[in-house]
Amino acid sequence: MGALRERFWELPLSALNNDEWEALCDGCGRCCLHKVEYEDTGEIEQTNVACKLLDTQTARCTDYKHRKAFVPDCLRLTLKIVDSVSWLPPTCAYRLRADGDLLPRWHYLISGDREDVVRAGVSVAGRVIPEDMAGPLEHHIVEWEDPEDWDGEDDWGEHGEAPA
Ligand code: SF4
Repeated sequence: MGALRERFWELPLSALNNDEWEALCDGCGRCCLHKVEYEDTGEIEQTNVACKLLDTQTARCTDYKHRKAFVPDCLRLTLKIVDSVSWLPPTCAYRLRADGDLLPRWHYLISGDREDVVRAGVSVAGRVIPEDMAGPLEHHIVEWEDPEDWDGEDDWGEHGEAPA
């Protein structure tokens, strides 16, 4: 654990304490959706089907602290694996920082408003269905679009280049 340092999100991921690591998440909920993986090719497709613990209206986990007890295969994103999780969205704060990019201007740590991730069209809040209503995942394959003109640069926060 540890206190949140000023502008901690500009530090390398390896320098973050536990609280800072947790606070980096933008709350988009996109990693909390089921995926379809094809055995023969290894290809992974996104769906609009939410994990049973996800509140579909807010895109927040309803029991984050105990999620592993209810969903044993819930991914716990760590520094060791962040580079190898291919399906993280390009907007994911962990992916951005792992690549040395700064957070986008709609990230709550930059804008000060947790709803900006919804306004930017990044959050899945209100756009997904619960897994117990979905039926076969193959019927729910979608492509989640990134914010208009998203290229990882125009959407950066106001602090310029990420530190090396
Ligand atoms: S995709 Fe990244 S930023 Fe979005 S909820 Fe998951 S960990 Fe947080």
